[in-house]
Amino acid sequence: PPDVEALGRSTWTFLHSLTAAYPPRATSEQQLEMHSFLKLFSRLYPCWVCADDFRAWMNQSGGRNEPRLSGRSEFGTWMCEAHNAVNRKLGKKEFDCRFWEERWRTGWKD
Ligand code: FAD
Repeated sequence: PPDVEALGRSTWTFLHSLTAAYPPRATSEQQLEMHSFLKLFSRLYPCWVCADDFRAWMNQSGGRNEPRLSGRSEFGTWMCEAHNAVNRKLGKKEFDCRFWEERWRTGWKD
């Protein structure tokens, strides 16, 4: 079975990097593409309990956790909130989402 922790760290690096590379304003095609990716990702992530919970979080009633894909700032903040939902579940410290871009795009050291 995969090492859930190592897989998680690498995957968060990938997911936050994806938001950092997202355009400031995304076209509807770019939004559609990312939406498809997230939907597939949430089915294929090879930690099944993680994937199930992540999918359930995204599909929570009322649609308040629907991916926000209009642009980098919105998407980056959404991904930070998704990561915080997992942090909460695991009893880890939450990250202040005002700083996601310093952490993942413009850079500071962890
Ligand atoms: P990680 O949580 O991997 O974080 C890596 C770095 O990201 C941190 O050092 C910090 O600098 C930064 N960071 C932390 N929080 C945020 C944030 N909110 N926004 C931006 N940056 C942040 N593990 C389980 O045991 N059970 C699960 O159900 C589970 N579900 C997961 C679902 C997904 C979609 C993913 C990608 C991972 C999941 N994991 C799960 C793995 C888990 O989230 C961690 O990756 C793993 O426990 C290692 O944690 P870590 O403390 O090294 O830091």
